[in-house]
Amino acid sequence: MNKIKNLSEFANKRYGQNFLKNDAIIKRIIQSIPNDNLRVAEIGPGLGDLTKELVTTRDVTAFEVDKRLCEHLQFAFSQSIHADRLKIRCGDVLKYWEDNLLLDEPYHLVANLPYYIATNIILKALKDENCQSILVMVQKEVAKKFSAKSGEKEFSGLSVLTQTVGFGELLFDVGSENFVPPPKVTSSILLIRKKRSEDNIYFEEFLKIAFKQPRKKLSKNLSTHYNKDKIEALLQKLEVSLTIRPHEAETSMYHHLYNELNKDNIDGRTKQQSRKRAES
Ligand code: SAM
Repeated sequence: MNKIKNLSEFANKRYGQNFLKNDAIIKRIIQSIPNDNLRVAEIGPGLGDLTKELVTTRDVTAFEVDKRLCEHLQFAFSQSIHADRLKIRCGDVLKYWEDNLLLDEPYHLVANLPYYIATNIILKALKDENCQSILVMVQKEVAKKFSAKSGEKEFSGLSVLTQTVGFGELLFDVGSENFVPPPKVTSSILLIRKKRSEDNIYFEEFLKIAFKQPRKKLSKNLSTHYNKDKIEALLQKLEVSLTIRPHEAETSMYHHLYNELNKDNIDGRTKQQSRKRAES
């Protein structure tokens, strides 16, 4: 990319461009990828610093929205593209995800994510059944929300969704001095190992209700949508305090409460779905 004289001026804020310029950190990221032969999907390869290391050992499909960077990547990686090691998809990655599967084969997601859509991208990957693991650089607060354990103050609806499909871990922090231009926040590497995938928007909505006011009682949040007596009876049956706060409940408890409180709706939905299936 000889044309680029000044990376800071070149970087487009709209696309969340902060380029990672530390080879030791890139190596640590590479070492954290699960050790198998699956393809890697990279979102936002940028100037290709991480991509360069990835293609030495893996087949890679990279998604880049910025046309200037796409041209650069196609030129700089022409050999890898020719050897079928690297595929470059130019455009918004969320468009490629419209059919729920980013790639039509099992893959690991590896990326230094654009922070403005990082949460959205991780949620898509959790639901994508071809995605086997997620290794991403994100804002530290976001990494904590996905990887927190029940009882920790950061435990959130995002932590519950992660634990529903696998196991989340904050691997290490990356200071802003490692990027050009430096972001205003500290970043962290988040690894989510998936055991399965789940796409249940009703459960996601339920978690939004449960964590609406994180410092209030869980029963109070839930009572905005469900019968208070029923909630309290369920909590008593589970032998947990009626004053339990959302971050103190376990993932299994959220699934139990969701199933019990939505019993009629879930049965209704199931019936509707089987009717539709029978009609088609
Ligand atoms: N991987 C590079 C690195 O580590 O230096 C760049 C990371 S930079 C934080 C985020 C990258 O994501 C940029 O290259 C940006 O253009 C790209 N990007 C932003 N929004 C995107 C989108 N919707 N789809 C695909 N790529 C996107």
